[in-house]
Amino acid sequence: MRNICVIGVGYVGLVTGTCFADLGHQVSCVDVDEAKIQKLQSGVMPIYEPGLEEMVRRNAQAGRLHFTTCYEEALKDAEFAFIAVGTPQGSGGEADLKYVRAAARGIGEVMEHPLIIINKSTVPIGTGDWVSDIVKRFQHEPIDFAVVSNPEFLREGAAINDFMFPDRIVLGSLEPDAAAQVAQLYLSLRAPIMLTDLRTAEMIKYASNAFLATRISFINEIAGICEALGADVKEVAAGMGYDKRIGRHFLDAGIGYGGSCFPKDVQALAHMASVHGCHPQLLRAVMDINRDQRRQVVHKLREVLGNLDEKVIGVLGLAFKPNTDDMREAPSVELIHLLQSEGACIRAYDPVAIPNANLYLHDVSLCEDAYEVAEDADALVVVTEWNEFKHLSLSRLKAIMRQPIIVDGRNLYDPEIMRDLGFVYRGVGRGYA
Ligand code: NAD
Repeated sequence: MRNICVIGVGYVGLVTGTCFADLGHQVSCVDVDEAKIQKLQSGVMPIYEPGLEEMVRRNAQAGRLHFTTCYEEALKDAEFAFIAVGTPQGSGGEADLKYVRAAARGIGEVMEHPLIIINKSTVPIGTGDWVSDIVKRFQHEPIDFAVVSNPEFLREGAAINDFMFPDRIVLGSLEPDAAAQVAQLYLSLRAPIMLTDLRTAEMIKYASNAFLATRISFINEIAGICEALGADVKEVAAGMGYDKRIGRHFLDAGIGYGGSCFPKDVQALAHMASVHGCHPQLLRAVMDINRDQRRQVVHKLREVLGNLDEKVIGVLGLAFKPNTDDMREAPSVELIHLLQSEGACIRAYDPVAIPNANLYLHDVSLCEDAYEVAEDADALVVVTEWNEFKHLSLSRLKAIMRQPIIVDGRNLYDPEIMRDLGFVYRGVGRGYA
């Protein structure tokens, strides 16, 4: 059993702290958001993540998991301090490191014994060295510490499983002893552990996200060509995916990637590249194609409805992907803004993200279910591929819509079945040109 402190209890920090507690460690989580900490202290989850509530409750009751707003308390007995604060996009496209800076300062100010500081947040290459400088600057007296980069690869919606069964653990440090001690924390997970230097570890995270985003934009570009030439991108992706060199993952054409990571991370990597004299042409194309996918939906709606002014458009799904309530950079937000700017009236439903909707949207009528969204709608747009949308009664939808038009941004439905049912149906890259 080791003593661990986790700084920041968002999607990554809360899952990390809870899973380490579940592995038998003593974990203290600290966050500056008092409301969040109060909720967690009383067993209420500040985020939606399948399986998390039960795991938090179980480990808190066992006395292995604590929540506080006080750095001193959280770091009192800690041997390891994981930084898991947000690194949102800054105004120029760079990663904004103000929360990382505050966390590093907080550690420096209160540390009283040697510590291993592990950076789990996604941070620009070189941040490990910078964190080290900040900690030193705010220490009251020199105390030994080491910095290790341990980028996180979990996916919201499957976060516990991803933490417990990772594809790999990446640890970067200039101090092999410190990295080896962090590796011990993960040993029971039996995952491959890759030891490297700080900068390389930081780069592995950006390169991984940029590569996955590139696959999405690649297949979306192919989808556009399929539409123009009469091929079906779903089958193209399936056919490509059989090739072991290619694989099937991240080849679903659709409305584009979103969420709290891909958009900001691709942008931050491109920014880093540019300011260091590189020309990230591929990354720029990835971002361009992604932006276009939202516009394509508007274009398809205009094609079938003409003018969108005062048309009622129903939006199915607000979260950036299924099984999360996270709406940061969700395609739904950009799409709804585009539609509203054309005068459309928006109705929307999401199985779990509705409580977050007012933070990102205005003048949207939020509904209890998909059928309420469809009632008297001129068109429906599928934005998030929630399972429950796959099982809707399509004939019931058709009966209650004003016009039977569906733009399917996630290719959930079969174009032939939809046409047989009498829908005007537009998927992504499904060769109806
Ligand atoms: P989040 O916004 O959900 O959570 C961040 C938390 O940090 C918030 O609760 C905030 O109050 C807290 N915080 C901010 N400043 C603080 C401070 N000085 N001290 C203590 N707490 C502070 O963020 P997230 O989605 O968990 O992401 C965290 C990091 O992990 C980011 O760098 C992100 O890119 C990366 N990441 C996220 C995911 C994901 O799926 N969300 C996956 C892999 C990596």
